[in-house]
Amino acid sequence: MITRRRAAHTRRPRGRNGGAGALAAAAAAAAVAAVALMAAGLVASGAGEAVVWWLFNAQPPAITAQALAGPRRGTLEVPVDVRPAGRAGLATVQVDGAEIDRAHAAAAGGAGAAPTTHRAVWWARLWYVLVRRDGPIGGETEASSAAVRIDTTALADGRHTLRLEAVDHSRRQHRTAVELAFTTDNTPPQLTLEASAPRVPAGRPALLRLRANEPAEIRATAGEAALPLLEERQEARGEGRDGSSPAYVPAYLALVAVPVHTAGGELLVAASGRDAAGNVGEAKEGLAIEPVPARRQALIVPPALAGLATGPVATAEAAQMTALTSEVGPERHWKGAFALPLPAAYARTTGFGERRDYADGYVAYHSGYDVAAPLGTPVLAAADGRIVFAGALQQRGNTAVVDHGWGVYTVYAHLAQIDAQAGQPVKQGQPLGLVGSTGLSTGPHLHWEVRLRGIPIDPDAWLALSRSIQ
Ligand SMILES: [Zn+2]
Repeated sequence: MITRRRAAHTRRPRGRNGGAGALAAAAAAAAVAAVALMAAGLVASGAGEAVVWWLFNAQPPAITAQALAGPRRGTLEVPVDVRPAGRAGLATVQVDGAEIDRAHAAAAGGAGAAPTTHRAVWWARLWYVLVRRDGPIGGETEASSAAVRIDTTALADGRHTLRLEAVDHSRRQHRTAVELAFTTDNTPPQLTLEASAPRVPAGRPALLRLRANEPAEIRATAGEAALPLLEERQEARGEGRDGSSPAYVPAYLALVAVPVHTAGGELLVAASGRDAAGNVGEAKEGLAIEPVPARRQALIVPPALAGLATGPVATAEAAQMTALTSEVGPERHWKGAFALPLPAAYARTTGFGERRDYADGYVAYHSGYDVAAPLGTPVLAAADGRIVFAGALQQRGNTAVVDHGWGVYTVYAHLAQIDAQAGQPVKQGQPLGLVGSTGLSTGPHLHWEVRLRGIPIDPDAWLALSRSIQ
């Protein structure tokens, strides 16, 4: 409006007077129009708004930083947003009061891209706001993103404070600071692995004890296979690294066994533990496996039973028994030593692991031991557990299988009758059935097996070892 009125006014004198005065007036009008056009252009481009912001901004910058949960190790990257975009940046980054190397801070993103802005002279800051801006002009709600990097290996394990200060590039240099607490841990957990004996005869169980000096996620292997860890108890271990006191650390047991016919060699048991920060500690133990010379049994199978001893029947039942006894229940159902299923006075007729060579070339190792007892003698559960199988099998006849938890199972075979049902819990000493001669049997006896994760183990060795597990 003003410009148009002035333009109308300048036209009139030119018409009446002409000459130098009119020319000067026209030049002044053109200059005013040019300035007006430039101002309009600046406003349109946003630079005018930037100048107004630079002059009058009273709003301090805003910092948004991600909370640092849990203990951390190695290089820590903290994403930081600073608002307004392009008009503010990180001025100082401190850990425990000491400024960290600026090369570590704000290496990614633009918030810190005006490094010495807080020290720069006013025109340099204005220049930055107008020209070196990172974000869109006028983007008051937009943020510049940066990542503050902290090398935690240079810090002692424990609690620390990260202080971030942002400054804006306006004439008054408003500042905002935030503090973030974080915990570092660059020390791997220490694991100790102890075997009950350094030498393990094939077919006999060995006990391993595993501990870590701090809470850790622990995995173990025995040879190529995963080794299930059984939580024995929780132990208080001083103060946790995050200051929580006390830290409870599980003490683990692991049970190891190799099949009775295994040749000698070394079984490598390896454990690794990862703490909450991700540090990994390791422990290894080589167990010497001793071969056990198998006693050979001259077995005469009556013609009527010959079809049950070898071939598909034997293979299928062996596979069924392995499947029934392989699962590792995390809960231990028993407490204290296992007991014999029959009075010790009854004679053993075949020992554990004895080798049987059949006429057709089939070779079997006795998976338990046999006790001759009068028909109808009650057979007792060796320890607390749960019946997982109660039924008739071709070789073992009427059979009960008890799951004791932790991968330990007992098997009671050739029963005259079974007094238990699958799924039923049983107590140590509870009658499971009566001695009989069902299946592949030539007279009343109990065939008793102890299995660890499907592998038949020496029942006597298990009875002894079970006493050392509290
Ligand atoms: Zn037997």
